[in-house]
Amino acid sequence: MRTDTPRAIRLKDYRPPAFLIDHVDLDVALEPARTRVRARLTVRPNPGAAADMEPLRLDGEHLELDLIRLDGKDLRLGTDYDISDVGLTIKAPPRGAFRLETVTYIDPDANKALQGLYRSRGVYCTQCEAQGYRRITYFVDRPDVLSTYRVRIEADVEQAPVLLSNGNPVERGTLDRGRRHYAIWHDPHPKPCYLFALVGGRFGSIASSFETMSGRKVDLGVYVEPGLEARAHWAMDSLKRAMRWDEQRFGREYDLDVFNIVAVSDFNLGAMENKGLNIFNDRLILASPDTATDMMFEAIESVVAHEYFHNWTGNRITCRDWFQLCLKEGLTVFRDQEFSGDERSATVQRITDVRQLRAHQFPEDAGPMAHPVRPSSYIEINNFYTATVYEKGAELVRMLRTLVGATAFRAGMDLYFTRHDGDAATIEQFLDCFALTSGRDLTQFMTWYEQAGTPQLVCSLAYDARARRAEFAVEQVLPPTPGETRKRPQHIPVKIGLVGPDGRDMPLRLDNGEAIDDGVIHVTRRRQHFTFTGLTARPVASLLRGFSAPVNLTIDRTDRDLEFLMANDSDLFNRWQAANSYATRTLVQIVAALKEGRRSSRGAAYARALGASIRDDKLEPAYRAELLKLPTQSDIAREIGRDVDTDHIHRAHRQLSRLVATTLAAELAQLYKSMSNKGAFSPDAKSAGRRALRNAVLTLLVQRGEPKDIALAVKHFESATNMTDEAHALFLLAAAGGRVRDAALERFYERWRHDHLVIDTWFAAQAISPQSDTVDRVRALTTHPLFSITTPNKVRALVGNFATMNPVQFNRPDGTGYQLVAEQVLAIDRFNPQVAARLLNCYRSWRALEPTRRRAARKALARVAAGPHLSRDVYEIVSRMLDT
Ligand SMILES: [Zn+2]
Repeated sequence: MRTDTPRAIRLKDYRPPAFLIDHVDLDVALEPARTRVRARLTVRPNPGAAADMEPLRLDGEHLELDLIRLDGKDLRLGTDYDISDVGLTIKAPPRGAFRLETVTYIDPDANKALQGLYRSRGVYCTQCEAQGYRRITYFVDRPDVLSTYRVRIEADVEQAPVLLSNGNPVERGTLDRGRRHYAIWHDPHPKPCYLFALVGGRFGSIASSFETMSGRKVDLGVYVEPGLEARAHWAMDSLKRAMRWDEQRFGREYDLDVFNIVAVSDFNLGAMENKGLNIFNDRLILASPDTATDMMFEAIESVVAHEYFHNWTGNRITCRDWFQLCLKEGLTVFRDQEFSGDERSATVQRITDVRQLRAHQFPEDAGPMAHPVRPSSYIEINNFYTATVYEKGAELVRMLRTLVGATAFRAGMDLYFTRHDGDAATIEQFLDCFALTSGRDLTQFMTWYEQAGTPQLVCSLAYDARARRAEFAVEQVLPPTPGETRKRPQHIPVKIGLVGPDGRDMPLRLDNGEAIDDGVIHVTRRRQHFTFTGLTARPVASLLRGFSAPVNLTIDRTDRDLEFLMANDSDLFNRWQAANSYATRTLVQIVAALKEGRRSSRGAAYARALGASIRDDKLEPAYRAELLKLPTQSDIAREIGRDVDTDHIHRAHRQLSRLVATTLAAELAQLYKSMSNKGAFSPDAKSAGRRALRNAVLTLLVQRGEPKDIALAVKHFESATNMTDEAHALFLLAAAGGRVRDAALERFYERWRHDHLVIDTWFAAQAISPQSDTVDRVRALTTHPLFSITTPNKVRALVGNFATMNPVQFNRPDGTGYQLVAEQVLAIDRFNPQVAARLLNCYRSWRALEPTRRRAARKALARVAAGPHLSRDVYEIVSRMLDT
């Protein structure tokens, strides 16, 4: 491990910037290996900080300084300024405002970290969040320094006919007898430098326009690889719907004359909300029925909306410092989830979001990387773009709405926009708006932002028939997390229903006479009792309706209670939850039996209850598809919690799938038929729901492993008329192994080898196959001509999917799965630390494994830790993973 331990940055050390930069004039002359950046900054001491006598510290990395001038005078190295590999210090800047000019050179071709300005596949593109701008020019690279920008870009006409930056276009022209050209952009809205963007390259584009609620016309453009324009229409359509929705739901209107989206192939993240110029990973823009699955259509709609919504929650109001990242991300994820719920089915959206939260955020909270939604320290900020900040952050906003009510919530949002427009704000300032509009004290609620870990609610309900009352007892347990052993009780809103024998909700009346009309009880202490009165029969408790808080819940419930809720709960989320809890419970029992060498006969009652649910035609197909998806193997591992044996889980999962498929054979066959494709493809939610249900049925049928089921999957694959069905069948056949696997993979490869996005599905299908030769295959595929270790999408498709979606082969007891990923992490860390560090997160639950696997995983982690010249990113994660 490196000897110079990287330094942690702490929230409590926050100081306002000593200098402000009001305006930035950038002139960028693009050249593949030597781009010139001339920056003219209008600087002044910050009146809100004690800047007297402070030097001016500018961040800058991988820059070659050619010129530095202050108010027109050249500065001398050593006398006037010092320079290091992380920045530049001007020793005695003027006390008043001044102009600083620098000229630096950078090498976009050599930039494989994909932060700052880089060039790949001939396209120049930037990624500045969190700290990429310092790789473009010297600057005070922090979110609370906001500037207006005027940007001139110059480039070779052939190489980069399209030149884009933030804001509105001002001017363009040719130079050098038409060999070069330039474009000037102006962004009048002050923004932090992490929102700066610039793009240059060859693109095809589609154009449209949008009329805002006040009647202004906005020109919209989506730029993609030439020839793929036809695949950009869904993104454009999603953008317009998102713009309208934000006006209707939040009263927020777009504020520039143009809004552009650019899709690029090599991108570390999903997408980036740069002001007026969103840059996307092309897999989140390009879609056609042939090439994209319904899941991709849905993801595109949601991410296009997310980045657009940032225009208000992130861009116009940004974060004071990176500790407040959830201020923009949690809030914007909440907004995009609400949008998707409105555009599609709110219940199915909620189920999908909760599944994601449990799959990604709960393990984070339970592992070595556990951190509060607002962390108090970090070594590398790029490591904190996490499920906790994003997804749990969104849950906190949702809980806030539950606590203050819809009206005060909307008023609080309006107040937040009015008060802080043009500001860099904090969580305290955000919450203060809602405290004001609701009159509620949100001090205890703030604890959610400050404490890590998933609270556990231990509940019981005792019914007293004579007194016609039920005693509901609840205890909140806050498990310790690294560095935080003692925790304060949190304010947990629990939405509750008491379901009577007739399946109807009984009135909620407390013994003090209070009626709970909104169904929400407030758990604020470690232990609390609530006595419900006037209950004429024993109720079954439906707790945490709509998943009203991101917590784990335990309550003693019989199988009969779960079957009853599956059939009757008026809260559709909880009806699904009952089915999910029942399946999880059954699977855990089967695993326990396997561990003892017994054969468990569990599952028949669950299968019958499931059958009753899926026969219910009143439930929409997308919802029934969710019912049919068993908990994932990772869900079961999380439920078991310790001494996890992934082979047992895999076998239990198969066993229950087979039992369900056999028990419900007739219903499933009928459903498969009735959900078959009719008419032309449409990506809308209703049609997608039918395909989802048909594919969920096929998944179960294939688990029986009978020749006729495999033949059905082959037919499904060969006759597919859209990528949803084709990819789904490919995954099933790749998992089945044998000749059908090889044939399907070959056919898919021949058909799609020229499509760099679709071919990722071919890599993924092989990476997640539970067949025993998967490690060897994945290793061999890392040298396949279509694989590229410097392209994050390829790494995620092959290595990322293997590490996170293939629990049985990644966690092989011989450790070869762990070793394979460790090698990749070390190789990638040499040029792209951010992607390497993300990949490393797949080991986060290693302590929950049984001893043989635990030892093997530790060995792989130790190997990473011993790597020479680890990046700050990988260092921080691996050291926390190994920390005892
Ligand atoms: Zn975001």
